[in-house]
Amino acid sequence: MNTINRTQLLGMNCKQLEDYMLQIGQPRYRGRQIYKWIYQKDISSFYEMSDIPKELRRQLDETAVVSIPRVLKQRVSKDGTRKFLMELEDRKRIETVVIPQGEGRGSRYSLCISTQVGCPISCAFCATGSSGYHRNLQSHEMVGQFLSSRRELKKRLKKNDDNIISNVVYMGMGEPFLNYDQVIASVYLLIDPQGINLGQRHITISTSGEVKGIKRLAEEDLQITLAISLHAPNDQLRDQLVPLNRKYPLGQLMEAVEYYLDKTNRRVTFEYIMLDDVNISREHAHELIKMVKPLLANINLIPYNEVETLPFKRPSSNKVWQFYHWLVEGGLNVTIREERGGDIEAACGQLYVKER
Ligand code: SAH
Ligand code: SF4
Repeated sequence: MNTINRTQLLGMNCKQLEDYMLQIGQPRYRGRQIYKWIYQKDISSFYEMSDIPKELRRQLDETAVVSIPRVLKQRVSKDGTRKFLMELEDRKRIETVVIPQGEGRGSRYSLCISTQVGCPISCAFCATGSSGYHRNLQSHEMVGQFLSSRRELKKRLKKNDDNIISNVVYMGMGEPFLNYDQVIASVYLLIDPQGINLGQRHITISTSGEVKGIKRLAEEDLQITLAISLHAPNDQLRDQLVPLNRKYPLGQLMEAVEYYLDKTNRRVTFEYIMLDDVNISREHAHELIKMVKPLLANINLIPYNEVETLPFKRPSSNKVWQFYHWLVEGGLNVTIREERGGDIEAACGQLYVKER
């Protein structure tokens, strides 16, 4: 199907769809009807919109499009995690992961959304960063990852559960705040009670420390969770691990976090990758406690998922627990991220762009 010159309806909010209907000489309420078909029912063609007049369905089929990314391949981990390889309209490919939540494995899933094709930040330890940067994703491609994954899960698991995806984390490929407007537009689509209706508290955005984005998010009236990829407690080390630190050193980053806390009153989470012999010494623990304690933040420790082409190693579980205890004794609120999908390279930081 030739989709060039057709109007992309996916990514429009209800008001935009209503305006579009008016523009093509239809009553406004048709926009709301179509909005529900797109976001609440997993349709694959305009012809399935049974309460829309046949003539309009035909017209839309010729002039408009709803481009939900196509799942080319999926891999299923022994723990139930699934990794989808998806193709976009320009045939670029991205990876999206769904992770089973809590007990009763496989009843509800958390979805890990990609925000860019590749990532320009180039963190030293990350497979995505080392696969280069291609382009930003548009909001319809992010919400499309949700719709496509939901459809696929319902089909594969034979479950007619519209809430099968209960959580969304913006932790796939890419730095969300280098694509701020499109990412936030996709969040508003996910939480709209007239549409997908995901709870705001079930959404997390993770940033490597894009200070402007953190400040902008503080101004939004949103109840989502902000996670900051810290990974090092001093500038010297963070400059090496997260190159964005050279632009926004820890002083500026922490100032932005304080601004966010003042404005929103919401706790942030600091993610801290554990790299053997790099960032988990007693001294690092002390520095981290000093920096984070006044902020009443949560720390999420992430034992490193090794990437074949990169030199970093995952620490032994003894070292992981040692570091954990140091932080807890120092008065921090700490969790350790449970690894999921490691056997299919679907764990954090193992996603990369596959060229065709
Ligand atoms: N770009 C954003 C969001 C995507 S990365 C960010 O960096 O925050 C999501 C999380 O996975 C980040 O905390 C990231 O640092 C972490 N991560 C990257 N590579 C990893 C790896 N190989 N093992 C474990 N975590 C990794
Ligand atoms: Fe980009 Fe995040 Fe990977 Fe860093 S960790 S390269 S910011 S995706």
